[in-house]
Amino acid sequence: MSKHVPLPKAVQVAVFHRDLWLCRWCKRPVIFAPVMKYLKRELGESGVVGPQPAYYHAHWTREGAPLLDELGAVIDHVEAVAKGGLNDLDNLATACNKCNARKSDAAQHEVMKKLKPKPIKGKYGEPQNWDGLSSLFVMLARRAPATLTDTERNWLIALTAECQ
Ligand SMILES: [Zn+2]
Repeated sequence: MSKHVPLPKAVQVAVFHRDLWLCRWCKRPVIFAPVMKYLKRELGESGVVGPQPAYYHAHWTREGAPLLDELGAVIDHVEAVAKGGLNDLDNLATACNKCNARKSDAAQHEVMKKLKPKPIKGKYGEPQNWDGLSSLFVMLARRAPATLTDTERNWLIALTAECQ
């Protein structure tokens, strides 16, 4: 995920969909992070008692959001921006948060680039219809449009434009 050049949400969604919401490097299914915030809120409003489960934390901490710490979906630059990598689709890849963190180590990055694409053959085939729970986000976001932040509204627009 580039911290220097903000990518339009529509571009990020296009990359996630192209990559079938699977990490380019480890092939694990990734999770669209905003949905976890909504699931946490739904649960809070449902009257289920007990400690708040660790569904969402703004910084994807292991303590507060272990699923996102591992599998939160981010956009990776295959060739780093600092090394002249571009923001075009060919240089962008879906990554899980763990691989993205590993890739920020320059030496690891060189190793990982040579590994791609890492084939993992599921016994019954690769998932074709995983969506990172993004459809669930669309459903929950449409339920409470007045509560959306600007960022969430932009995600909703990008995701629903892609679906059509
Ligand atoms: Zn990964």
